[in-house]
Amino acid sequence: MSGHPKATYRIATIEGDGIGPEVTRSAMAVLAGACGAGRLDFVMVPGGVGHYQASGEVLPKDTLKACRELDATLHGAAGLPGVTYPDGTEVGNELHLQLRFKLDLYANVRPIKLLKGVRSPLRDFDAAGGRSIDYVIVRENTEGLYASRGAGVLLRGEFASDSLVVTRKGTSRVARFAFDLAEKRGGALRDGRRRMTVCDKANILRSYAFFRSICDEVHGEFPDVEIDYAYADAITVHLLKRPDFYDVIVAENMFGDIISDLGAATVGGMGISPSGEIGDAHGLFQGAHGSAPDIAGQDLASPVAAILSGVMMLRWLADRHGDAALGEDASRIERAVETVLEAGAFVPTDLGGKARCSEMTQAILGALA
Ligand code: ATP
Repeated sequence: MSGHPKATYRIATIEGDGIGPEVTRSAMAVLAGACGAGRLDFVMVPGGVGHYQASGEVLPKDTLKACRELDATLHGAAGLPGVTYPDGTEVGNELHLQLRFKLDLYANVRPIKLLKGVRSPLRDFDAAGGRSIDYVIVRENTEGLYASRGAGVLLRGEFASDSLVVTRKGTSRVARFAFDLAEKRGGALRDGRRRMTVCDKANILRSYAFFRSICDEVHGEFPDVEIDYAYADAITVHLLKRPDFYDVIVAENMFGDIISDLGAATVGGMGISPSGEIGDAHGLFQGAHGSAPDIAGQDLASPVAAILSGVMMLRWLADRHGDAALGEDASRIERAVETVLEAGAFVPTDLGGKARCSEMTQAILGALA
């Protein structure tokens, strides 16, 4: 906890591109509806590929300043197809990456939770009746293979390389974050044991063996959490066959990126999966999906991921500021989302239904009331 409850929390809000604006507005409406008038002040700031095309800047200085100075950042999505830098990398990712490094958001938190009313593609897993899914992937967010972005080598059109970076500092802080989370959660669904799984390829690369050894060291501070190991290839099978075994998983940046999308697919997909990028001083929250330009501006996007990312934001703020009321508001929103999904009258498009973004928003607001 780093502060006291505030009367009003100021949220730097970047709508971004594609479906970003519509899902952000939906999340803002639901968060404001749950928390009450004046509790949240959404400060709208520009950023993303649309802004880059107009101004040459994907993350304007004033936007970065707002993200740095306000209480949290809420983001819709960034990216437009075909808008790339000369080296072929996408401009859309830059907003995120810059914020990650500049705000030192080292833990990318991806809850993989099967909500009531959502059918998992995994046979035997069904939150309402059978076995369920509820674990969290903590992806290291500032180093690993992606640390090399913009700095890899391309030699004479014949040779390219990027370096995988693993540091003691970067690994120990993300491992501590993951163990701490496991300590606070209720354990794995299968056996109730508090478990932190290290996902790596320690059998192949020295850098991953180092990652694992640092996790082992940090484990000494958390005697109530058991440590578990899984190779990145093997865990893709385990997450399909025995997802209820998992509680918290920590992974190097690229592996975390890959397995968190796999995990999301087992609980309904990207349109329902939230994410939070968290550091010691800042937090940025956005749905796990991209800007989905194919459905942008048609009121077809599911706002659920954005709303649940808002729930993560409220919980993070509640924790930092010792604000129990905000934590209760977060739980009310989560229950309202689940009530709507379970009732089945409004099913978002990505879950096979026809509910429009605006209809989902109204239904969730109705369930809150
Ligand atoms: P990025 O690389 O920016 O993460 P992506 O290539 O993974 O993006 P998304 O933008 O996440 O792709 O979307 C993939 C497809 O999934 C979209 O084209 C869209 O049809 C669907 N989709 C994504 N998010 C949603 C959503 N919130 N609601 C409904 N459908 C969605």
